[in-house]
Amino acid sequence: MKDIFSGLDDLGFENVDGLNLYGEKDKKENEPENDFNENSLKDLSHLYDKKLTCPVCGASFTVKAIKTSSYRMKGKDSDFFIRYELVNPYFYDVWLCNSCGYAAMKADFEKIKSFQKDLVKQNITSRWRGRTYTEPYDLAISIERYKLSLLNYVYMDAPASKKAMNCLKLAWMNRLEGDSKMELEYLNQSLKGFNDAYFNEDFPIYGMDRFTTMYLIGELNRRIGNGEEAMLWFSKVITTPSVNKRLKELARDQKDLIKCVKSDENKDSSESYTTSSKKKGFLSSLFTK
Ligand SMILES: [Zn+2]
Repeated sequence: MKDIFSGLDDLGFENVDGLNLYGEKDKKENEPENDFNENSLKDLSHLYDKKLTCPVCGASFTVKAIKTSSYRMKGKDSDFFIRYELVNPYFYDVWLCNSCGYAAMKADFEKIKSFQKDLVKQNITSRWRGRTYTEPYDLAISIERYKLSLLNYVYMDAPASKKAMNCLKLAWMNRLEGDSKMELEYLNQSLKGFNDAYFNEDFPIYGMDRFTTMYLIGELNRRIGNGEEAMLWFSKVITTPSVNKRLKELARDQKDLIKCVKSDENKDSSESYTTSSKKKGFLSSLFTK
């Protein structure tokens, strides 16, 4: 029964392999798939279709968006990663036009300049073969879509801040996945981009003012094991009079964390938390000019 509908994927009939032709009940009890389907339905109930027009090729398409009532915050990591209950909005953050392959994070999708449209057509559309995704989206899908948007940013010569934010979100998704090696790689790339953006771009950057960005650069340094560099950025945040109290507190907390790690390292140098990745991956050239 498995392959009976294979090959229809490109026609829009993805995920039909499991369809039961004559409605027989041949499923065993306790099959975990039932849970998955229930969860899928639950996830889908938090989403609605949003109509878009692609700014690159003009095609009309829909993306999944989250209902306002379905945003339920659970917590926030020290690098601003927000953890949600119910449904994960990061899964639906990248909008992708399946006609031309243009993809970007939703905050940027409409803001594409005409020279960038040409770059997307030349570098992405010419190679784009189309891609359909099963809904609701999951971690693996969201990681692939964030990679696609990152590829677009690279080809369209986007400012460093956009690649940096995209890499940060890829780091977060890998954190959820439990892949600390890839998380570190993306944090490294994100830091490179934010360092560049800090000195060369205007604020706010994705809603972050200069001081919030300073804090984030400090925190990214801390997370990849550059304790000394992190201390410098946190100190700048703490000693600048106009910075708000909450951000100063955050910077103080993270600074204390470095001090703790340092004193632990002195006690037992065999247990080092620094695993800064020196590996040259496919992303290593993203921010070099
Ligand atoms: Zn398009």
